[in-house]
Amino acid sequence: MKCTMRSDPLDARNWSLCPVEQFDVKESYRKDLAGILIPSGKIEERVKQLAYEVSQDYTKPPLAVCMMTGALKFYGDLVMRMNIPVTPEYLTATSQAGTESKGKVDFHGFDFDVMKDQDVVIVEDIKDTGLTLRETVNESWKAGAASVKVVTAFDKPARKKHDIGVEPHIGITIPDKYVVGYWLDFKGRYRDIAHLCVLKPEIFQ
Ligand code: 5GP
Repeated sequence: MKCTMRSDPLDARNWSLCPVEQFDVKESYRKDLAGILIPSGKIEERVKQLAYEVSQDYTKPPLAVCMMTGALKFYGDLVMRMNIPVTPEYLTATSQAGTESKGKVDFHGFDFDVMKDQDVVIVEDIKDTGLTLRETVNESWKAGAASVKVVTAFDKPARKKHDIGVEPHIGITIPDKYVVGYWLDFKGRYRDIAHLCVLKPEIFQ
């Protein structure tokens, strides 16, 4: 482990939404989207910076845990650009019912014992209340991880309720809106949009 380098997140909280028509979004999704919050190019630029920073944290390959399923795209983009190898692991955690946190986290099909004595980096799509990350970090320490770090693509500071116990690397801070795309979904849809988009409230209300 080396000393952590951390740049400020890109702050998209006051960004205006771009019209969907100006972007390569599948026709059948367009009517459900309020607009594009972060075009894919902006996400890619920031992921490159994050990959460099996270790589600086390690002297030997960390156990890189992908929080399924929403973080898959970010995970792939991040670890491909890191300049050190990682040992991949995949963890499914559910904490939301619809668009709201259900106040508890369920972990599925993952043996936390693989973390024993390992440097663990937890790779998450989005931090909302912080509950999922708080519980995942706690379980990692309980399993005997040598170190635990968190990197999240997006963060909604307005919704924060729980301290996650470590200082995360954060890609982009976003407003308090339900977002989809870049492999984030609503009821299994919209993952295959390259950009981060805001869903029209009538779709989830
Ligand atoms: P938390 O435990 O921090 O309240 O919620 C984190 C989880 O909720 C994320 O891993 C993600 O699955 C889901 N989530 C939170 N906000 C959003 C959002 O705006 N869009 C989508 N698609 N999922 C979200």
